[in-house]
Amino acid sequence: MPSQPTGHHGEKPSETLVRLIVERSLGVRVCCYDNRDGTSKPDAIIHRQGGVPLEIVSDPHKADVRLLSALDKINRRTEFPGLRHGYWVALTHKARVKDLEWLEKLLHQLEDPEQQDQVPSRANGYEFISRQDHLLPGEVRLTSGSGGGRPMPSPTNVVRAACDVLRQPAYADVLRKLAAHGGAERHAVLIVDEEKDFAFDWLREATSEDVSHLSPPELADEITHLWITRRYVPGLTVAWSQATGWQGFDWPGGHPVDELDEWDDPACSEDHKPGAVSAS
Ligand SMILES: [Zn+2]
Repeated sequence: MPSQPTGHHGEKPSETLVRLIVERSLGVRVCCYDNRDGTSKPDAIIHRQGGVPLEIVSDPHKADVRLLSALDKINRRTEFPGLRHGYWVALTHKARVKDLEWLEKLLHQLEDPEQQDQVPSRANGYEFISRQDHLLPGEVRLTSGSGGGRPMPSPTNVVRAACDVLRQPAYADVLRKLAAHGGAERHAVLIVDEEKDFAFDWLREATSEDVSHLSPPELADEITHLWITRRYVPGLTVAWSQATGWQGFDWPGGHPVDELDEWDDPACSEDHKPGAVSAS
């Protein structure tokens, strides 16, 4: 097999990140399976039971998509000379990205003891600013965050909102692809945005210990395992199956861009034919 060039097999970064999260959470390889050759197949395969299909459902907020594509144009990072620290900034869709002079000014204010009190912890243009000591002084990583000071939503609403998304006619294809591949386990991952449905804001602050508050999902028969994870900004990923109930996986801590850069994610040489039967 030729080695795969970087760019993670033509996926969107959010899809690659999902495979990384599932691979780490389960401790088994999760390869990119949809090679975009025009045939319909699951997005990824979990290397167990002869190949378990995994479909990635991304239900983006339109404004967030515009923000992310604007950030992609500058590689999601920038540099401001003269700062003493590096930063991670989660922008909102209201942020001005073309000209980041406002952010440069803000970060200098943040480092000035006389002015730092004037910098709010969140504002119209950004969700949070986090000092990152592993970054070089002046190095700034940009990502998307949610907008708006809303109250913490309840864990029941997270599950309900996720099931509502999966029931949309637009995602009937997900069920069809999982059923067509078959096997005892059929996983769906939902990438969520709190700007689209603020119920998902729960995942931002929750930890793996909080999953006991989640109720069982109501899923179509085609889905045996449900994952819910946030877009780009790390938080808690939760996963449900009948056998395990809800499990939580905390993000290990690094910036997603760094984690993806360092991930060994070669092209898979296995065939993964549909209809694999459990070897157990
Ligand atoms: Zn594989």
